[in-house]
Amino acid sequence: MSRVFGVPLPPSIREAMRTQQHPARAVSCPHCGAHEHRPCTTPSKRRLMPQPHPQRVSAWVREMACCPECQVEPGVPCHQDGVPLRNGDTHARRNREALETAA
Ligand SMILES: [Zn+2]
Ligand SMILES: [Zn+2]
Repeated sequence: MSRVFGVPLPPSIREAMRTQQHPARAVSCPHCGAHEHRPCTTPSKRRLMPQPHPQRVSAWVREMACCPECQVEPGVPCHQDGVPLRNGDTHARRNREALETAA
C-alpha cells in the first residue's frame, strides 16, 4: 500500500472527512447495495444516509489496509483467534490505519 500523501493528517482535514464524502464510498455497499461513489440509502431507498453503513466501511477497510491487530493482508477479513469477526467487522486499529492511508 503506497500512501498518497506522506504527511500527518491535520485536524482540519479530519474535520472535513467527517462532514464530506467518506472514503468508504470508493467501494459499493454490501448492506444497501449503493454503487461505488454513490451515497448509502435507507432500506426504502428514499433517503440518503449522511454516513456509509458500517458494513461498507468494513468492506472498504478490508480492501485498503493490513490489520495491525490480527496481522492480515488487505482483502483478508479480520479474525479473532482464527474466527472471523461478526458481520465482516474489522478491528478498530485497522479502521484507523485505512483512514490514515486514505487521507
Ligand atoms: Zn449502505
Ligand atoms: Zn484485524
